[in-house]
Amino acid sequence: MHRIIVIGRGMIGSAAGRHLAGLTDGVALLGPDEPVDRTAHAGVFASHYDEGRMTRVVDPDPNWSITAKRSIERYAEIEAESGIPFFTNSQFLGLGAAGSDYLANCETHGRANGADTLGLDADGIRARYPFLRVADDAEGLHEGRNAGHISPRAMVRAECEAARRRGAQLIAGEARAIRPVTGGVEIEDETGTIYKAEKVLIATGGFTDVCGLAPRDLRLRVFGRTVVLVRIEADVARELAGMPTMSHAETGAYILPPIRYPDGHTYLKIGIGTTDDPEFRALADLKGWFKSEGSAANRRDFQGFLTTLIPVLARCDHWHTATCAVTWTATGLPYIDYALDNRIALAVGGNGKGAKSCDDWGWIAAEMLAGREWSHPIPRERLELPAGLT
Ligand SMILES: Cc1cc2nc3c(=O)[nH]c(=O)nc-3n(C[C@H](O)[C@H](O)[C@H](O)COP(=O)(O)OP(=O)(O)OC[C@H]3O[C@@H](n4cnc5c(N)ncnc54)[C@H](O)[C@@H]3O)c2cc1C
Repeated sequence: MHRIIVIGRGMIGSAAGRHLAGLTDGVALLGPDEPVDRTAHAGVFASHYDEGRMTRVVDPDPNWSITAKRSIERYAEIEAESGIPFFTNSQFLGLGAAGSDYLANCETHGRANGADTLGLDADGIRARYPFLRVADDAEGLHEGRNAGHISPRAMVRAECEAARRRGAQLIAGEARAIRPVTGGVEIEDETGTIYKAEKVLIATGGFTDVCGLAPRDLRLRVFGRTVVLVRIEADVARELAGMPTMSHAETGAYILPPIRYPDGHTYLKIGIGTTDDPEFRALADLKGWFKSEGSAANRRDFQGFLTTLIPVLARCDHWHTATCAVTWTATGLPYIDYALDNRIALAVGGNGKGAKSCDDWGWIAAEMLAGREWSHPIPRERLELPAGLT
């Protein structure tokens, strides 16, 4: 019998596992490894099977800003504890039109949390980043010290390894059922193996509702997202030297600078959430999306947007897509709460930006499960499950 099993070894679950293992013994993390062959895979997927996620303290929502700050401040500790590096301080540039509320709010909340920001006009943007083509009324918000990108794959590996070194057990498996039993909870995996624990934390991201893991339907909204990656060869890489991670206020585009991928090539990536993105309510459809190439229209549009903003990319010949999914809650923040007395808890809902703050969402969940007094700057009620879920 374990004391606590975390189900889902993703960005939030692995962080919760590391923090929990520092607070108590008897911790296990149960979740599948990344599939080697995506198309032949029959099981669940995850939103962290990639090499680039933006991270920054500036954010239009103070709750996301403070959790990002607290997470980023722990990156060095997690890297040292695990021996696995995952953060690149490439800095961040938000682009907006003159007077953009988005950038103003990002700056206000970022500064309140100690972000090292600098406002730029169009000439300032061009001087720093000569490869960008921006309009004369463009404005930029730059963040230096604590901004850039993480490898979500490496961060999950690092959190899991640090949890293991703190005494947690890592179990490869997919939960098929979670049942309350006398004195705790039992979890059945895909092989029929039963694991028992006093408590469980469900941190299964976009697969939580479609796998029917929580005792209630959380009414999570899970949307498929298509990203476009362009292969960057050495000559173009030279012109893009010093490129930061970027977001574009009007379109919601986010752009990762050239990053090396496991195939040995370097890719620059763009994603934009669109109103045509498919929404998933069934397990088979969500799995199917992860195996697909995503939207051909997105591919065309994102490529056009990128080559307008960064004209040197027109010289690149190799473009491809990848798919992922984002999980929205009704509150815009993750749900971190008990769903059944004090035995079954949840930490789900990355709301499209869970990577940068994942260590702190995991910290909150761990503190709650360990029965510690609430001490986070975000009040507990803000992360509770909404009333009326059945
Ligand atoms: C295209 C794209 C780009 C993004 N870019 C950014 C960005 O730049 N910055 C940012 O901050 N965020 C970004 N995000 C969001 C971020 O990746 C997610 O918010 C984050 O991964 C959510 O973490 P999670 O732990 O909730 O889910 P996941 O990381 O998906 O982890 C869930 C885990 O649960 C496991 N699991 C699922 N079902 C089961 C089961 N039945 N049994 C056991 N385990 C199970 C999965 O294997 C997985 O490991 C992006 C997302 C997408 C899709």
